[in-house]
Amino acid sequence: MQSVSQFKIIGCGNSESLRHFNNNALLCCTSGNLLIDCGHTAKLALHEQGYGWADIDAVYITHVHGDHVFGLERLAFESRFKLNTRPKLFLEPELENELWEQTLKGSLGNINGKSQVLADYFDVQFIQDHKFSFGGHHIHSIPVDHAPDKSAFGILIDNYLFYSGDTKAIPEVVNELNFEIGFHDASVAEISPVHAHFESLKSSYSVATCKKLYLMSYEDDWRLAAKDIDGTFAGLAEQGQVVTLP
Ligand SMILES: [Zn+2]
Repeated sequence: MQSVSQFKIIGCGNSESLRHFNNNALLCCTSGNLLIDCGHTAKLALHEQGYGWADIDAVYITHVHGDHVFGLERLAFESRFKLNTRPKLFLEPELENELWEQTLKGSLGNINGKSQVLADYFDVQFIQDHKFSFGGHHIHSIPVDHAPDKSAFGILIDNYLFYSGDTKAIPEVVNELNFEIGFHDASVAEISPVHAHFESLKSSYSVATCKKLYLMSYEDDWRLAAKDIDGTFAGLAEQGQVVTLP
């Protein structure tokens, strides 16, 4: 295990991507690994980076869409019945009903005729005041603006690394944040009503802020717009990309 903490991109594609996996990440610390979102491609994407479910000590969920939570069923079943573990689940309280009652319960809610609850699979840690700690890092959970009437969050780690999760441009939030390196939702080929297009980031954020941002959650045909991205942003996030935390 490395002696410093690293933030790794496990996948950086949009929900339709066949090439870049779901937009998920991993915070690797000396004391364990925190998976940030667990989409339907998470098991394979983690495997490609040399990780299995046994390496996942905790999970944080940004919001309840399939490319961010559908991998939780595998993690839950395999942790419980193969690994005999119960990973921590850092959860914003307002996501609980949507995640369990409306999403996971149909698959995980009954074992041999006995009703199950989320805590049978995960050591649920409800996040208080949008703050929690992992591996000695202070993490802020930041409400973002994704789909209408749907709660979604990004995170800020140690006032150093910002990870937006799925969101449209949120200048009132991002321009006020103190961070050195960011990863921001950005479609590059298509305009989406629930994701930021990179042009909207250019027009919403300062030049200095854009230069700190790697774009993520992009489409497979991002090369169509590659020339328009060059120079404005830090670049496009890539699967396997590592940021060493101070
Ligand atoms: Zn989403």
